[in-house]
Amino acid sequence: IGGFDAFVTDVRLPDGSGLDLLRRLRADASTRDIPALVISAEAAEGRGEALDVVDWLQKPIDLDRLRTAVHRAVNGHADSRRIEVLHVEDDADVHAVVRDALQERCTIRHADSVRAGRAALQLSRPDVMILDLGLGDGNGVELLGDLHDGDEQPVPVIVFSAQPLEDKALAASVDAVLTKSKTTLDQLARTVRKLAADADSKRRR
Ligand code: CA
Repeated sequence: IGGFDAFVTDVRLPDGSGLDLLRRLRADASTRDIPALVISAEAAEGRGEALDVVDWLQKPIDLDRLRTAVHRAVNGHADSRRIEVLHVEDDADVHAVVRDALQERCTIRHADSVRAGRAALQLSRPDVMILDLGLGDGNGVELLGDLHDGDEQPVPVIVFSAQPLEDKALAASVDAVLTKSKTTLDQLARTVRKLAADADSKRRR
């Protein structure tokens, strides 16, 4: 099952219950988060259950309401949560283009030094950190030690730097190493979204 963006069902189907179908969707990791709308003849049918239904529509169906609800369900899906990104970068121009490329989906904080990065991490943990290496007051990798904090899930790190990360052990300890000259902003944005989504699904497990 799967391959659709929203699930709309009648409670009473000729050969069974739409709620049974919905329970099956919710039990399967690949379809668990699909927004669902339920149409029922009776206002109370199935509503006591925690099936995470966007809207319950009663018959006779108000088509405008159905249309609006489906639209809202699809566009307001888990994807729309804003991703908190901390961008550690001492070059203001690079930061500006990265911010432009990410701002549609991300809320971006900027730190222009190791010190500022450390202060920003103390304030709050981002969903993803984008890390430059050559900074005025040191090397971005100095911040990696600040990320592993108790039993919280580690913050995904993308090293986005002009110089390659030579140290193999360090390279293995981050989630992605992207070289500025070889990476498009689209690739960077995709990597941010993917790491945030991976972290989200790990958190839900
Ligand atoms: Ca730099």
